[in-house]
Amino acid sequence: MFENLQEKLIKTFKSISGKGRISEKNIKEAVRQVKLSLLEADVNFKVVKEFIKDVQEKALGEDVLGSFTPDQQFIKIVRDELIKVLGEKNIPLSLSSKPAKIMMVGLQGSGKTTTAAKLAARFKKEGKKVLLVAADVYRPAAIDQLIQLGRQIDIPVFVGDRKNPIKIVAEAMDDAVKNVVDIVIFDTAGRLHVDERMMDELKEIAGQLEPDEILMVVDAMTGQDAVNSAKAFNEALELTGFVVTKLDGDARGGVILSIRHVTGKPVKFIGISEKIDGLEPFFPDRVAGRILG
Ligand code: GDP
Repeated sequence: MFENLQEKLIKTFKSISGKGRISEKNIKEAVRQVKLSLLEADVNFKVVKEFIKDVQEKALGEDVLGSFTPDQQFIKIVRDELIKVLGEKNIPLSLSSKPAKIMMVGLQGSGKTTTAAKLAARFKKEGKKVLLVAADVYRPAAIDQLIQLGRQIDIPVFVGDRKNPIKIVAEAMDDAVKNVVDIVIFDTAGRLHVDERMMDELKEIAGQLEPDEILMVVDAMTGQDAVNSAKAFNEALELTGFVVTKLDGDARGGVILSIRHVTGKPVKFIGISEKIDGLEPFFPDRVAGRILG
């Protein structure tokens, strides 16, 4: 992940390393390179602007100029700024209801159904009793996919009438209470584009459920489109966080650097493979480390 960005940043640091004393001009050039790398990685331009402003101020203001190791100083400034943009620390899920309710939302193909199953498998490993709910009724294959995944990880999947998501969600909750389930994960409908009907239905489900978490799943490969749909979902629903998937692919990484800044909501997990165990809690410092190589 972040191959482009990483490669460019390494080049930038090389250009200022080993120079002994460096000039203000060297620093400005390095900052410009960082800016280009971020834009090339498809980071939102507002995020880039702020990022660059902070890096430049610090690089010119701190000891980089007089330092014996200007490259390392400069890298540290960029690393700190990356961590800041990524959100400083891991924000865990907040699951206080009994049973706890997690609503998964997102556009079709983002990895929502897969992520629901990945999360379920994680909870099961922690000894929790989990129920998956197939409320993505507009894509019949999604229901079968969830049933299949449930079988694979040995977690029950509530299906209901396969038609009315509001009814399915209510019945699933009755079922969860009856069976003393710890965590219920709802896979809701995804469409190709954000539309009003979809949002109204999601709002209705959220109003009925009052979920502990509403997690939006976004595909890192879709770049700025992912950030735009995140914004639209966040305006319509009280999202509690994001899962950014497909960071193992050719994604340029920009989404992960933009999404929190644009929406104010944290990334809580990242998807790093198609497999059931390909989900990691999101730690800003680790991701900053990966970006810098
Ligand atoms: P949904 O329409 O949002 O429910 O999306 P799916 O869960 O069906 O996922 C769409 C495709 O993305 C499937 O082929 C998944 O295996 C794949 N996928 C999901 N998450 C990841 C990930 O983190 N990495 C990779 N490489 N593929 C993923």
